[in-house]
Amino acid sequence: MDLENCPVCGRLFVRSPFRDICPSCHEEEERQFQTVVQFLRRRENRLATMEQIVEATGVPETLLVKFIKSGRLTLAQLPNLGYPCDRCGKLIREGRMCADCSKDLQRQLEMVKKEEEQKKKQVFRTYYTDKERNGR
Ligand SMILES: [Zn+2]
Ligand SMILES: [Zn+2]
Repeated sequence: MDLENCPVCGRLFVRSPFRDICPSCHEEEERQFQTVVQFLRRRENRLATMEQIVEATGVPETLLVKFIKSGRLTLAQLPNLGYPCDRCGKLIREGRMCADCSKDLQRQLEMVKKEEEQKKKQVFRTYYTDKERNGR
């Protein structure tokens, strides 16, 4: 059993893959989700930006982002909505990072990979020189 402190209220609760906050916070979250759903039921409200939704529903932006990321709010019907890129905070509508950041990260990953290969080669070389030195 995985006991953990609720990140919202600090109470101890049993963590599960489906539950990352305590039951009472979860209930509160559900209520707020319903508020958002109610708000977005009106066609004209679907054009709202993040700030406008926060203002109209009182639901914090972090929670809205959570709903979007978990797929409960679908951006397909919400043209002005997005969530911040994990890296630079720019508004995006899919994935975890904006195009610039994912390109940049890709480049960095490749560099790390090359460095690791270089290191492996070096280790390999040292290993063999040592062996030769030991006369084995
Ligand atoms: Zn809680
Ligand atoms: Zn970014």
